Amino acid sequence: MLLQRCGPSGDWTLATDQNPPRLLLSDPLSENRATWQVGTEISDARRVLAPATPSKIVGIGRSYRDHASELGNPVPDEPIIFLKAPSSVIASGGVVRLPQGRGRIDFEGEFALVIGRKLVRVEAEDALPALLGVTLACDITARDVQRGDPTFARAKSFDTFCPLGPAVRVDPKWDELSLVTRVNGVERQNASASDLLWSFGELVSFVSHQMALEAGDVILTGTPPGVGPLAPGDRLEIESAQIGCLTFTVGRDLE
Ligand code: ZN
Repeated sequence: MLLQRCGPSGDWTLATDQNPPRLLLSDPLSENRATWQVGTEISDARRVLAPATPSKIVGIGRSYRDHASELGNPVPDEPIIFLKAPSSVIASGGVVRLPQGRGRIDFEGEFALVIGRKLVRVEAEDALPALLGVTLACDITARDVQRGDPTFARAKSFDTFCPLGPAVRVDPKWDELSLVTRVNGVERQNASASDLLWSFGELVSFVSHQMALEAGDVILTGTPPGVGPLAPGDRLEIESAQIGCLTFTVGRDLE
């Protein structure tokens, strides 16, 4: 089942493998999935919104062995976490604006977990049922700013630096999730969830032992190897068979 949020009002739609999108009458962040009510089929083309409005975005650093080594970093003993501003989120189909004078700016294609209910110190084996599901993200990173600053906050948080979507897979086959990142049609990243140093459940558990996770919060699970710089005019696709294809284009900052 795939959940999407649609404009202009933020209505949720629910599609199944058998059925096209229908209006979801229930709030998926406060009502149990077993009780969700669906309404009429969505026949008109609606603008796709980002499938979460998080109170915070928690990023995971160096969660794939080969990505840590490509940037010359050691593999950490436990997950490295950082916060990315929620104001950086844009929907699939949007434009990432490169800020001027900030040096190299990279794409990082990632699985993004959407929290389904408040979680405090959850164990790994209890974490996956507490998720709304999984979507895709691009954790855009100002690499030179990241290397020069004492924290990742600024490098990760420029406006438009978090394309998210296009949909949330609420019942994924977790072990079979894979993604590819294409830049201008050329494959640059190809990863499977099984390549992660920690399972999704372990990552959620770890973060929930540092801070409460609220319904709708997002965890970016880290990027596989193959990251690279963006340039104005680039067209990116981050695609997963179970989730769909997150797309965006790259432009200069408006200022
Ligand atoms: Zn990342």
